[in-house]
Amino acid sequence: MTKVCAVFGGSRGIGKAVAKLLVEGDYKVAVISRNLEAAKAAAGEHGAHLALSCDITKEQEVQHTFQEIAKNVGNVNYLVNAAGINRDGLLIRTKAEDILSQLSVNLIGPMNTCKVALRSMVQQQGGAIVNIGSVVGHKGNAGQSVYSASKEGLVGFSKSLAKEVAKKNIRINVVAPGFIHTDMTSSLDKDSLSRNIPLSRFGEADEVAHAVAFLLNSPYVTGHVLVVDGGLQLQI
Ligand code: NDP
Repeated sequence: MTKVCAVFGGSRGIGKAVAKLLVEGDYKVAVISRNLEAAKAAAGEHGAHLALSCDITKEQEVQHTFQEIAKNVGNVNYLVNAAGINRDGLLIRTKAEDILSQLSVNLIGPMNTCKVALRSMVQQQGGAIVNIGSVVGHKGNAGQSVYSASKEGLVGFSKSLAKEVAKKNIRINVVAPGFIHTDMTSSLDKDSLSRNIPLSRFGEADEVAHAVAFLLNSPYVTGHVLVVDGGLQLQI
């Protein structure tokens, strides 16, 4: 069966690295982000098959995106949700719109894409989804209470969905990265944060991509959270 994968958040960072690795693994890949030019540039760089603009928080745009992929590449049977945002800060200083936007992109967004993808996967009698969570979801992190809630919410969502669709031969897993070199972490103090990481460094996007590809390709793994954090979660 042709492997057709939609990578949301595929224009930059972790999603871009995932798209590259999947193209190398003979998947047909659609790179999706709000910024069409960035999605096109990333797709062109790696030989991905399609680039589309979509805001993951808008259900109609998500539906249209899957229709476009089906028309141009084939029915989606693999999905990676790597779109995400952070609006770090103490809760008492966080604006209502920043609470809403983090929950909308990081939690409701994957709900939208999974819902549409599952229709196509049920028809094809199989498929696999990887949602990108975060190690701060289960560890907690001061200044990231809303972000952490969105990411741990994604774990509960993914595990429940894994039970819902297992009989249809569809698997749902989560990759939970620690600190990874991307635009999202560009302003962080890497030297000081790395002192608390057992492997003493930030990870690279392609190191997360390998974990994503592993889960997409592992037919007997579902409902799993694979932590890729250089040992950060081991710290007290
Ligand atoms: P980047 O900021 O580098 O990339 C984010 C991607 O998401 C971009 O492609 C962006 O494109 C897309 N995106 C953002 N909002 C939307 C939206 N509303 N609809 C569609 N696409 C959107 O982030 P990372 O690669 O670092 O992060 C990828 C995932 O990994 C995120 O879920 C993040 O929370 C998670 N993560 C990252 C960690 C890190 O250390 N970097 C650690 C733990 C988890 P555009 O703006 O054009 O829409």
